[in-house]
Parts: sequence; structure tokens; C-alpha cells
Amino acid sequence: MKDLRQNKSNYTEGFVKTDGLDSTLTDSATPGPDWASADLDILRAKFYQLYIAVEQSPAATAITDTDGRIEYVNQRFLDVTGYTREELVGKTPAMIQSGMTPGDVYRDMWQTLRSGRVWRGELQNRKKNGELYWEAETITPVRDDSGEVVSFVAVKEDITERRRQEEELKLLASVFQTGQATLITDADMRIERVNQAFTDITGYSEEDVIGLTPKLFKSGRHDKAFYVGLWNELLETGHWQGEIWNRNKYGETYPLWQSITAVYDTNGEVRRYIAVFHNIAERKRMESELEHQATRDHLTGAHNRRAFDTAMRKAIRQAERSDNTFSLLLFDIDHFKSVNDQHGHETGDIILQRLAALIGQTLRSTDLLARWGGEEFAILLQDTSAQGGTIFAERLRQQVAETRLHGLAVTISLGITEYRRGDSPEALLARADSALYRAKRAGRNRVGIADANA
Ligand code: GH3
Ligand code: MG
Ligand code: MG
Repeated sequence: MKDLRQNKSNYTEGFVKTDGLDSTLTDSATPGPDWASADLDILRAKFYQLYIAVEQSPAATAITDTDGRIEYVNQRFLDVTGYTREELVGKTPAMIQSGMTPGDVYRDMWQTLRSGRVWRGELQNRKKNGELYWEAETITPVRDDSGEVVSFVAVKEDITERRRQEEELKLLASVFQTGQATLITDADMRIERVNQAFTDITGYSEEDVIGLTPKLFKSGRHDKAFYVGLWNELLETGHWQGEIWNRNKYGETYPLWQSITAVYDTNGEVRRYIAVFHNIAERKRMESELEHQATRDHLTGAHNRRAFDTAMRKAIRQAERSDNTFSLLLFDIDHFKSVNDQHGHETGDIILQRLAALIGQTLRSTDLLARWGGEEFAILLQDTSAQGGTIFAERLRQQVAETRLHGLAVTISLGITEYRRGDSPEALLARADSALYRAKRAGRNRVGIADANA
């Protein structure tokens, strides 16, 4: 056996000589080939064959002594950990421990090994470069002929990817359980999974949408630029959130608040996208309701004074920046006090409502009607000169005079003026008001036009 022992180091440079190994080789009682009676050259050849098999095995393999000191590691072990043989041999696997594995796992491992049994488990270790990885490990005690454990062989499989997938699935499961509508796609945006809340909102079951892309939900409400912007942000930052209109299974469009997150693999490539969303139709309805309440007059539904003031200031800013002008029209119901006196205040209220509705019908969508106070109203006529405004005012006067409101004949007097460069809102209003006053003075049921030099 002397020869073999001397030559061993020629082809097993990673081995630290051990008595255990020697005794294994010399012992005829050890299961396996009958070493003692075998021809030395055959033995050498078989040994080399075994060595090569382990060395080239795709499973990282280590042999330690009974104290856990490393005697041999194969090439795969070096590839995985990034250490050299010199750095590892003589050390314990503590070198590659991450500190992330609970102490219980190691206690169980040693207890099992010391009692001579095979240990299997999963450990999180650390490479030389600091990177963490998961291994499924099988450690087998090796015995000599007397049955005494002389070393351990650890065979490890890298399960980082499987662990990562498990973690991801756990994450996905937790997202699924939040009750928010959730949609998971692959990297090509093909739908892989949806949850019940998704079905509740969209009407689509999982079978309806698996393999399809979210293009299915397009409402047609957004232009191309919207989707380009969404994708740019998603690809650049890995995240997008915002308001988006989709179409449900029954063809109805609805607004939703959607958050899309890219999930990456270890190489930084997108693996999938997770979209979480909820329907905001109710919220939007409440918002517009609140907005309506804040900007409208309760009795007539016309805009209130504050909304009108805001619109007028905006119109002034726009007119200052362009050659366009606009006109302001004020009107007041004639002898409204006597309407109240004769028919009651409630009838007066109904007439105010009917009048606002009548005028609302004749306005362009860009024009704005407001109840200025009492039975006095204001109209902002966009892109309208005094000339156009006067024609409109006259038509309005006539229409009101010809229409019975709640069975009663009512007339209005109007004052019109055009915005002039440099006008303040107050100046504009004062001019319209004095034009209205002149219409009243001149006999009512007529249009007063502001003086060019007023
Ligand atoms: P004229 O404008 O033609 O000079 O006469 P008038 O009778 O309309 O006089 P004025 O505009 O000064 O009077 C406003 C009246 O409008 C007073 C009030 O009785 C009535 N009025 C004001 N606000 C309301 C309201 O919200 N509901 C009802 N029913 N009447 C109102
Ligand atoms: Mg009046
Ligand atoms: Mg009045």
C-alpha cells in the first residue's frame, strides 16, 4: 500500500492525507472492491476514476474530518463559493456560513451526524464575494472497518433559484390575499394569474384572461402617449401608478387606481409584472359631487359667485395673453318682488329654477352661468365681443319674455360689456352693472350696452 499512498498526492492534490482514508483503502472488510487482493495498478486506476467522478460532479462536494475540518472540496464547490482550495482546506465550513441559518439547524446537523446518521437540510451560505445562496445539503458519515465515523461527505445542490421562486410565490400569495384586485403577468405581459377581487371588478374569470394581455381591458379613453408614458416609467423605474380607465367584460368603462410593479430575477431581467388596482368610480363620483357642491348654487344649480369669480379671473388672464376677448352679461328679473308678493316665495323660487334651466340650455359649453345673488345672474361669454354679446343678450331677453315660467310671464333686464385690456374684475363688473342699471331705468325688459368710454 506504500506505493498508493505516495502516489495519491499526484492526482489528488486537494486531499489532505488522512488515516481514515488510508484505512478505508487498506481495509478488506470495507464494502466495495476487495482492495487488499486487488492488483495495485487496477486499484490506482479505480481510485483515479472515482476521484475524477467526484471532481467533475455537478454537485458541490466536500469531505471533512470528524471535527468538521475540510479535507477536500471538488471543483464545483470552488466554482460555487469562489474560494480556492488553499483557502478552504484545513478550515471548517463556518467559512461559508452566512449567519442567516438558525442555530437549531446546525445543532440538529451535528446531533444527527454524531449519532452516525445521514443529515439532510437546507442552508443559506455566503460566497467569497459576499453573495448569499441556498444549498440543499446531504452529509453522510463515513465509517472505517470498525464502524467508527472517520469523516463526513457533504454533497450540496444549489437551490437559490428554487428558494427565490418560493419566496416570490409567498410574496405573490400575500399580495393576492390583500383583497385588492390583482393581476400577475409574465415578462411579456401575458396574464398568469388573477384573484377573486379582479373578477369582481372586471367581470372576467381567470379562464377568460389567462394567456391574454391587459390590452383586453383598453377602454379607448387614453391616447397612445398615455400608454407610452406608462411603459417608459415602468421600464425605467420598475413601477407605475396612476388613474386609468378600463373596460369590463360587459363593455362598460370605469376608472381605477392602478399600481404596476416589475419583479426582477437575479440577473436584473423582468420576470413578471404585478398589477394591483381598485375601482375609483365611487370616489370620483363623490369628488365631483363635492366639487359640484362647492361651486354651485343650491337653489338653481347654476354656478355660485365664487366659481364665477374664478372663471372670470381665468378669462382675464387668457385674454391678456391673446387677442381674444370675452363678454360679461349681468341680468336681473324685472319686478320680481311683486311676483313673490302675488304668488308666494315658493313660486318665486321655482321661477328662479326654471329661468336658470332655460338659460342653461341656450349657453355654449364654454360659457358660464352663475347666480350672482337674489334674482340676479351673471354670464361669462367666452371668445365673444361686445357686438356678439349684445346679439346674444337680446336673444336671451326675447326668449325669456316669450317663455312662460311656471305659468307666469317674466321679463329680465340685461347689461353687457366686453373685456377691455387692463380691466380688473371689479372694473368689468361695475361696467356691466351700470349697463344693467340703465336698462332698468330705460323701462326694463331690455339690454343695456356699456358705453365705449364708460
Ligand atoms: P326690479 O329688479 O325690476 O327693479 O324690481 P325687483 O322687484 O326685482 O327688485 P329687486 O331686484 O331689488 O328685488 C329683488 C327681490 O327678489 C327681492 C326678493 O323678494 C326677491 N328675491 C331675491 N332672492 C330671492 C329668492 O331666492 N327667492 C325668491 N322667491 N325671491 C327672491
Ligand atoms: Mg329685480
Ligand atoms: Mg335684484
